[in-house]
Amino acid sequence: MPEIKPDRSDKSRCISVHWNLPVQCVLPASHRENWHEAWHPQTGNRMRYRRSMGVYATEELHHGAWHDLEIPPPGGHCNDQHSHQPHVRCTQQYGHRFSWSHTATVDGCRYTWNTPPLKGLTPDQLDSDVKQLRGMAYELAAQSEQARRIAVELENENARLAARVRELERPAVEAERAEIRQSYTELIAQCEQDRDHEGAFDVQCRLREREEQWKREDESGGPDA
Ligand SMILES: [Zn+2]
Ligand SMILES: [Zn+2]
Repeated sequence: MPEIKPDRSDKSRCISVHWNLPVQCVLPASHRENWHEAWHPQTGNRMRYRRSMGVYATEELHHGAWHDLEIPPPGGHCNDQHSHQPHVRCTQQYGHRFSWSHTATVDGCRYTWNTPPLKGLTPDQLDSDVKQLRGMAYELAAQSEQARRIAVELENENARLAARVRELERPAVEAERAEIRQSYTELIAQCEQDRDHEGAFDVQCRLREREEQWKREDESGGPDA
């Protein structure tokens, strides 16, 4: 599970937090790259991290290149031993998906191997089930974080669209208001012509009320509910 809780006060910022280091992504919420970026809390160097398809990676930028920090995934590595190469152990997440199929890259060599599925309710099978459930819990946690990130993005996108709609509607709104203003002004002129000063004052007041209502609508960003 992540080291820190994401700070959600800044809506324009990505809310992804690292699973091991106390950092939150410093990129905008809308960034599309798989890599999240932050400043390494100890060295102050730029770092980047990602988790996709059960592969967790953290890299640090120094001397002009990215270097793998070899930070294990949450819950550690699977560590299953290769059937013929005892020095090769699975580097996927503990309890990873397709738990019978393991992979590792050692000295630039990529290894894949399978373990036969166990049959029946044996301690080994229970152990393997627990391992897999634990892996699924980590995966679900990562997915819900992703879902939260998308929700924040959608919220921002919604606000942007609503603002755009108001902008597009603006000329029509202005035209409608001008028309209403015009009819009030004509009514006031008519009252004055008829020496109905009380009536003219009344219409004057109603026009002022409308103007105040429009001002409120403009400030709140929409018609009064
Ligand atoms: Zn990010
Ligand atoms: Zn494995």
